[in-house]
Amino acid sequence: MRKVTDAFNFYQGNCPRELADTFGSPLYVYNERIFRQRCAEMVGLSKYPKFAVNYAIKANTNLTLLKIAREEGCRADISSAGEVVAAMAAGFKADEMLFVVNNVSEKELSYAVEKGITVSVDSLSMLDKLGRINRGGRIALRFNPGVGGGHHEKVVTGGDGTKFGIMPAYIPHVRELLEKYDLKLIGINHHIGSQNWGDLYLEGVGSLLELARQFDSLEFIDLGGGFAIPYHKQDGEKPLDLKAVGEKLDAHLFDFAKSYGKEITFLIEPGRYLAAECGVLLGTVHATKTNGATHYAGTDLGFSVIKRPTLYDSHHDIEVYRAASEPPLDFANPQTINVVGNQCESGDYIARNRELPPLYEGDVLGVLDAGAYGFSMACQYNHRPRPAEVLIQTDNTPRIIRRRETFEDILVTMKEL
Ligand SMILES: *Cc1c(COP(=O)(O)O)cnc(C)c1O
Repeated sequence: MRKVTDAFNFYQGNCPRELADTFGSPLYVYNERIFRQRCAEMVGLSKYPKFAVNYAIKANTNLTLLKIAREEGCRADISSAGEVVAAMAAGFKADEMLFVVNNVSEKELSYAVEKGITVSVDSLSMLDKLGRINRGGRIALRFNPGVGGGHHEKVVTGGDGTKFGIMPAYIPHVRELLEKYDLKLIGINHHIGSQNWGDLYLEGVGSLLELARQFDSLEFIDLGGGFAIPYHKQDGEKPLDLKAVGEKLDAHLFDFAKSYGKEITFLIEPGRYLAAECGVLLGTVHATKTNGATHYAGTDLGFSVIKRPTLYDSHHDIEVYRAASEPPLDFANPQTINVVGNQCESGDYIARNRELPPLYEGDVLGVLDAGAYGFSMACQYNHRPRPAEVLIQTDNTPRIIRRRETFEDILVTMKEL
């Protein structure tokens, strides 16, 4: 088992066991340097002069990270009114956000429209609703160009089998509604799915640009997110070759811009790529057992803390941190272990059939690449307060950026009803 975090200098001299001791377990730990680096990489993806990155903040909405993303030059891709609130609290201005909605209420739409945020709708009925609220307004549309892909069927968001986007066949109806409400179509976007390597992404770009030529009023084209990160680093998996993706992307962008006859901005919406690798989730082994032939390590990392393995069968590399006073990790005699949580559900898995040195009570585990869709999907199931978040700052010191919830936090919304 390679210690990936050492290669990244992830803890920057801090001891993960001490972090768990000081701030409690489970604990999300983020590395500021890595987050800044990933933001800068995406901002630098294209040489096209009017290119910008909308960080899909649903991946991780911690306000400190949002502020850092903004400092690094990102704008914000928003998926709910609650995220508008978070983005504004972090300093994003209305014209730095695109609200990409899916089946939202009139109230949620109005909230964004009143704030002056551009909204992208993805069905004829949502377009009709937006027209009623924002007659004469400047709006965007999310298309479904028929290309889709991702690491699991639950994250594919393009193609016939998904609920997202307007299929191109409906463009005549779109035009009728634009006219009916005197709407100005200033942008289009798509997002074909998550955890895609370069070629499928570029195929999607090609089809969206083809579609864009049918509209002459566009000010921006947003090419979506979904850039993959290597979750199997312990097996030597390599990162996306961003330089190659950037070059191929630019060929599309410059070519389109030349023929469109009007200045155009290109946007992308990465979430995972920016936030995943800057986060490790620390947890503690509280019990071990063998049921029949199956070894279990029972931890405080239930799916209320990290949902991805349960929701998508996702793989996260795991590292083990054992106290120096204990017998050393026996890598020579690994066991096949199911690492599970503490929730009352059989689907409560962190890892299945994972080769690890035998684990014992008190071992601290690091679940790697947990910065995206980790805390942001955490919940209070079984009435467990959600964990704290700590940032290892560029000066190597850890700083708490979200306190651990208390039992009071769980009860407060039901009190005094
Ligand atoms: C979730 C989402 C993204 C970000 O996807 P990643 O795979 O995290 O890059 C981008 N755009 C939209 C519309 C989304 O819903």
